[in-house]
Amino acid sequence: MGEEISSNLAVIRNRVKQAAERAGRDPRSVQLLVVSKTWPADKVAVVADAGHTCFGENKVQEAEGKVPQLPQNLNWHLIGHLQRNKVRKALRHFNTIHSIDSLKLARHTSHVAMELGEKPKIYLQVNLAEEENKNGYVISELKRDINDLLALPSVSIVGLMCIPPAAESSEQMRPWFVKMRELRDELEDHTGAVFPGLSMGMSSDFEVAIEEGATIVRVGSAIFGTRNYL
Ligand SMILES: *Cc1c(COP(=O)(O)O)cnc(C)c1O
Repeated sequence: MGEEISSNLAVIRNRVKQAAERAGRDPRSVQLLVVSKTWPADKVAVVADAGHTCFGENKVQEAEGKVPQLPQNLNWHLIGHLQRNKVRKALRHFNTIHSIDSLKLARHTSHVAMELGEKPKIYLQVNLAEEENKNGYVISELKRDINDLLALPSVSIVGLMCIPPAAESSEQMRPWFVKMRELRDELEDHTGAVFPGLSMGMSSDFEVAIEEGATIVRVGSAIFGTRNYL
C-alpha cells in the first residue's frame, strides 16, 4: 500500500510538471495539494516521508485528529465548507482556506485571525454554474463584495477556487477553467489588486486545469486510491 502511494505520488508530480511544460509554464508555478481527507495518518505519512509538505483536508474535525499525528513542518489547507463557528479551530491547523464564500464568513475569519495574530491565505470559492446544492460565491455577488473583501485587514486574498459540475471527460471541464481565469482577470481589472492563485483541477482533470492557468491542483484519489465514505 505504501509503495503504491509513493509511486502514485511520483507519477502525479511528473504529470503536473509535464502539463505545465506543455502549456509553456514554469512547473514551479503549479503547486500540488495532496488531498488526504478520509485517509488515516499512517497513509498520509507515506506522502510526507516522500518529501511532500502540502496537504488538503475538507473537515476541521478530521484535521484536528490527524494533524497532530504528522510532522510539524506540513502545510494544511482547508478545502471544504467552513462554518462560522469552526473558524477559530480551523485557524489552529490551517494556514490556507480555499472555501471562503461570503463577506460575512470572510469578515469573521479576518476578525478571529487578528485576535490570534495570524493572517491566513484565502481563496474565494466560486460557484461558477450557480448550482443550488453547491457552496461558493455566484459571480455577481463576488463582484459586488470584492472591494469589501480586499479591505479586510487579517486575511490575504490570494485568488479564486472552484469545483465545477462533474463531467464525463476532462476536456468538458476546460470551459469552466477558462471562465475562472477570465473572472480572475476581470476582478483584477476592476480592483487593481492581483489575484495570482487559481485553485482548480482534481484527480480527473488537473492537467486541463494547469493548461488553463491553475496554480494549485487538489489531487486525492489519484494518489491514495478510491475513497470509501462511511
Ligand atoms: C475531495 C476533494 C478533492 C480531491 O478529489 P479527487 O478527485 O480525489 O482528486 C479536491 N477538491 C475538493 C474541494 C475536494 O473536496
